[in-house]
Amino acid sequence: MTQAPKPSPYKDKTINWTGLLFLTLSPIAAVVLTALHIYLDGFQWSIWGLAIVFYVLTVGSITGGYHRYFSHRTYEARPWLKWFWALFGAAAFQNSIWVWARDHRVHHRFVDTDQDPYSINKGFLWAHFGWMLINDPSTADLKPYGRDLEKDKIVMFQDKHYVSLAILMGFVLPAVLGYFCGSLLGGLAVAGFLRIVVVHHMTFFINSWCHYFGKQGYTDTNTARDSFLMAVATFGEGYHNFHHIFASDYRNGVRWYHWDPTKWMIQGFRLLGGAHSLRRTPWSEIMRMQLAMDEKRLKNRLNNQWQGQFQVQLDNLKGRVESAHARFEQLREEYRKLASSYATISLDKLKELKFQIRMAQIEFRAALKQWRAFNSFLLETAN
Ligand SMILES: [Zn+2]
Ligand SMILES: [Zn+2]
Repeated sequence: MTQAPKPSPYKDKTINWTGLLFLTLSPIAAVVLTALHIYLDGFQWSIWGLAIVFYVLTVGSITGGYHRYFSHRTYEARPWLKWFWALFGAAAFQNSIWVWARDHRVHHRFVDTDQDPYSINKGFLWAHFGWMLINDPSTADLKPYGRDLEKDKIVMFQDKHYVSLAILMGFVLPAVLGYFCGSLLGGLAVAGFLRIVVVHHMTFFINSWCHYFGKQGYTDTNTARDSFLMAVATFGEGYHNFHHIFASDYRNGVRWYHWDPTKWMIQGFRLLGGAHSLRRTPWSEIMRMQLAMDEKRLKNRLNNQWQGQFQVQLDNLKGRVESAHARFEQLREEYRKLASSYATISLDKLKELKFQIRMAQIEFRAALKQWRAFNSFLLETAN
């Protein structure tokens, strides 16, 4: 029997000329102008340094501002920080906050379906940038997804003056600063065009690569995946499997050692007074999802044979991990409370609590190690 051919995601759709022209002409301009700059001025460290500064400012404004603040409200921000995100975010040339955030909220709400604007099921290239070149009527209506943003004067101002702000912050400012660094053309070419193209494709990879390659440690109910490589390129956004399930968390790389500079940047802005009320998912919830995903993976691989045979051991081990983790978290909370009550603090009590925390941590790590070892053993047996 012959299978019906998969419908092309590009069929019956109209071309988005602005998207098409900008996304095809900007790489050409980047290459031509950068080559011309190097030919005329030689290699200038100051110009490439300026481009790196603009890369950090603009990627940071997309990840920390457009994404984790305006789209997901993972923390509260003072007006000066919102202005900062709005101005440098515009310089990334990824449309206004008003458009970007609503597209992104729809992506989360309808992930992997036809209504998802950048659904990976319409192909890698579609998710990467095809959706910006072609208008797709099957995408969900954006209207209901920006009621809160409508009331934000900074968001509406940025949307109204988006093109002028983007040109000013994305081209004029790098060119002027380039002039003071040794070359106006260099500033425009490297910190302007070339930087925009690199920022574009690195952030587009979150919608393509991070729904295609990587680990699904928390859920497999959607295609989002965790990729360390992409986390490096996009200041932490690569931990996309975690993000899709815990989108209200200001962190994407949840462990302290996960490479997530956006999380550190938001913490930095909290110290400066620009951000507050940073939202975190309780560890118990994160742990529950991880264990459930481990178990689901086992079920899928081992079919029905495993059920009766290993269920009791698995339940016992899982229970041990959960209770050890709960005790560790409870002791840490007690310690935090005690340490902040300066008046009644007892050093002996603190020391005792610290010791108990350490013991609880050892117990938790041992339980987790045993759970993982048993998981691997069962998976090996299945092969
Ligand atoms: Zn996604
Ligand atoms: Zn998101």
